[in-house]
Amino acid sequence: MLLIAGTRRPAASGRTFEVLEPATGSVLAEVAEAGAADIDAALDAATRAFAGPWPRTPATERGRVLARVAAGIRARAEEFAVLEARNAGKPIGDARWEVEAAASTFEYFAGAANKHLGAVIPVSEPGLDVVLREPVGVCALIVPWNFPLLITSWKTAPALAAGNPIVIKPASLTPLTALLLGEVLIDAGVPGDAVSVLPGPGRSIGDGLTGDPRVAKISFTGETATGAHILRTSSDNIARVSLELGGKSASVVFADADWERAADETVMAVFGNTGQDCCARSRILVQASIHDEFVARFAAATAARTVGAPLDETTELGPMISARQREIALEYIGLGTAAGAELVTGGGVPAGCDPHGFFLSPAVLAGVDNSMRVAREEIFGPVASIIPFRDEGEAIDIANDTPYGLSGSLWTRDLGRGIRVARALRTGVLSVNSNKSVRTETPFGGYKHSGLGRELGPQAMDHYTEIKNVFFSSE
Ligand code: NAD
Repeated sequence: MLLIAGTRRPAASGRTFEVLEPATGSVLAEVAEAGAADIDAALDAATRAFAGPWPRTPATERGRVLARVAAGIRARAEEFAVLEARNAGKPIGDARWEVEAAASTFEYFAGAANKHLGAVIPVSEPGLDVVLREPVGVCALIVPWNFPLLITSWKTAPALAAGNPIVIKPASLTPLTALLLGEVLIDAGVPGDAVSVLPGPGRSIGDGLTGDPRVAKISFTGETATGAHILRTSSDNIARVSLELGGKSASVVFADADWERAADETVMAVFGNTGQDCCARSRILVQASIHDEFVARFAAATAARTVGAPLDETTELGPMISARQREIALEYIGLGTAAGAELVTGGGVPAGCDPHGFFLSPAVLAGVDNSMRVAREEIFGPVASIIPFRDEGEAIDIANDTPYGLSGSLWTRDLGRGIRVARALRTGVLSVNSNKSVRTETPFGGYKHSGLGRELGPQAMDHYTEIKNVFFSSE
């Protein structure tokens, strides 16, 4: 079933598609496939909702509705977690964490709704000049498959907090938790017309939404090439577009750092979510004097990770999302070794896993040069490239020598170096002596080909509002 104008219903065409369980390769669900008539119905409803009460509901009341969404997610937390674990192949512990993070996102924007302030500007004419923040209009929220519920929440919560109607387009591989979230939104009191969820093929639904003049705002997370395509399809309508795109982030480890800790903690900063993470530190830059010891420790810690079935509580890495995604990762491992890198560990199908599932043991490539394709292109799988560097200047040059600029880490005990390198790195998010990139309260997004705009934090609200300047003459 789709969700159109707050109501679950079949696709107008009656078509459905199969959603697979990556751990077994078997069919998990049959889902209604949205088509042109469903896009039309969802956008008509959202247009009605924008003319209706939701944008005019006091922000404090909208915040209360979002607080009920957070409670609604928590009330069904285990249902969300098991569904996400099975559909996206996530270890159940990770899925539980993501469900709680989704609830926290709604909680944060529940509080942000009535704190997104305008301004009073002291102009030279006699009167009063005020800056108002107003909802932008119908928002198309397009989500990838790697963090399905969480990224849907990052977009849905600020869009609704600002008073907009939404149409969610989940990834066709992972539409299930977005549909469940739609039910929670309606139960919490978001008006029906303001919420639709349209699963189905990216190209047709994506183009149908992004090229439609009823859509005022597009928030997209996915591949850089798809983001560039959306900029083109939406350009005639001058839609507001924010993009969270790919990454090839660096973790830069200096010899003066607590590099043992860096080695241990960076394992999951690359291989968490089986490497299918836009923030994955898939390029690990290590100072030459500690390089060999670092590689040995990192590889041993990688090989010690438990790859297994998502619902097994001991699993640390689940399967990849699809057979195709695993094939791509294997192709890159082959490209790396052919270019002269050494495969230190991983890269095979782990023993004991379901042979029909899309499992791959995490792979470490050492002796990588930043010009190799494994270092330049986003693999989006469990493949880490370790690259040696001589000094601070070379570390900065290598880290910045990428079309991307999403995330990254810097490991040093030298405060001055920490400040210099942090300022020099061209990336939207950076952690010093830490690998954490995402916090609900802080802005998240990329430089260069990693995106446009920011999600989370107070800045997210800017992207879902227009600025209106009003001058009241006192003459
Ligand atoms: P994708 O670009 O293939 O798909 C993302 C979404 O866009 C899906 O819902 C898909 O159906 C839809 N889509 C496909 N074609 C479209 C079109 N023509 N118009 C509109 N929508 C279309 O990406 P993916 O494979 O689902 O996700 C992986 C990518 O997402 C990686 O590149 C990763 O780095 C990126 N990502 C970025 C962030 C971030 O915050 N920067 C977070 C997660 C994932």
